[in-house]
Amino acid sequence: MFIHSYVKTDISLCLPLSDVCLPKKTDIAVNFTDGMFKGIYHGKQCHASDIATVLSRAWSAGVDRIIEFEESGDPEKHFQALLSLAQEGIEKGKVVAIGECGLDYDRLHFCPAEIQKKYFEKQFELAYATKLPMFLHMRTAADDFCEIMERNKNRFTAGVTHSFTDSAEDRDKLLSFNNMYIGVNGCSLKTSENLDVVRDIPIERLMIETDSPYCEIKNTHAGIKLVKSVWPSKKKEKYDQDSIVKGRNEPCLVRQVLEVVAGCKRINDIEQLSRTIYHNTCRVFFPQDLDSAADALLSSGHGPQ
Ligand SMILES: [Zn+2]
Repeated sequence: MFIHSYVKTDISLCLPLSDVCLPKKTDIAVNFTDGMFKGIYHGKQCHASDIATVLSRAWSAGVDRIIEFEESGDPEKHFQALLSLAQEGIEKGKVVAIGECGLDYDRLHFCPAEIQKKYFEKQFELAYATKLPMFLHMRTAADDFCEIMERNKNRFTAGVTHSFTDSAEDRDKLLSFNNMYIGVNGCSLKTSENLDVVRDIPIERLMIETDSPYCEIKNTHAGIKLVKSVWPSKKKEKYDQDSIVKGRNEPCLVRQVLEVVAGCKRINDIEQLSRTIYHNTCRVFFPQDLDSAADALLSSGHGPQ
């Protein structure tokens, strides 16, 4: 229900932005509670837990903030209990969003549409009461999703619809809501149609994510031809901490998502693109940390086009 964040502790090493420093990136969707980060694949222990290694690989790749899902609490829990839990988290600076909320009609076998709609509606109350942004999920459910958004838009301050894989029409419906951003990962870059949809997301409304350990950019995906950075990889059975695990996505690979987005938009200045996306993420989830100088630069029209 709540989403919190990891921030690289030696952030000062990367400021001010300079040529020697990799552009800062954020990964807005990581599931560190997944067994794969504890070395467990299909119930079998293949290697030791390696979150620290995965994090250090992410920091060295220029990733500077990671937004992580907290395992869902009991959805039946009383609203007031959730609210006070959120407020406690906000005070500790841990909770940055309400989520994941939304509708997924590809997973009706897990939860029927009527129940999904009921809770989605309810989540706006929590967002409104906490003034937190929302972390949203929408899959093949644009009509109902946008209808509920429309009804609740006054309770919505800002948010991102992550792991976007729907059509150009659905993209535009989402973008018609103020302060709505779209998050893309490997699943958003599977087909050439997907790439066309991503190409036309304005960069000032875009965020990038891995959704790791899932949704990596596979060799069969249309996006793969635009990937430039690769890491040595090994099978989980031959685990080696200097390599990534084949088939397990992790935050450093958000760099590849950035490269595919730049490639399909034909943007040469990948650093500038990265800064804009970083800025979008701060604007929504870390407004207190927003670099006001960068903000002024962007609004003066000297930012990336
Ligand atoms: Zn999701």
